[in-house]
Amino acid sequence: MSRTRSASECATCKQTPREDESGRFTCACGTPWVRRWGIRGTPEEEALLKLSGFIFTLDIQGDTYYVGPLGHIVYLYSGGDWDSDKAPREQSLEEYLTWIKEKLAALSQPY
Ligand SMILES: [Zn+2]
Repeated sequence: MSRTRSASECATCKQTPREDESGRFTCACGTPWVRRWGIRGTPEEEALLKLSGFIFTLDIQGDTYYVGPLGHIVYLYSGGDWDSDKAPREQSLEEYLTWIKEKLAALSQPY
């Protein structure tokens, strides 16, 4: 597994495009973006995602992504890249999933 982090950032305003009230993707400077659709990962990727508590989701619009135990979302794209709304920029997908697993383990420690 060697996905690169998606560079979903506007070159002008450095913001990540977000869906507005009318369902269009746009950023702070108003550039229109085409929505990217997620894909299902390989069996190896799915196994790793599952170990960190991520569940495959198909939403009503037909988009696919993985929802994690802390409410994080992981997108896998057909271009061999990935993205997450909450993952630190410098982490690889493997590092991010390990980080989540450690976070969960820490949360479940008894007092
Ligand atoms: Zn912009």
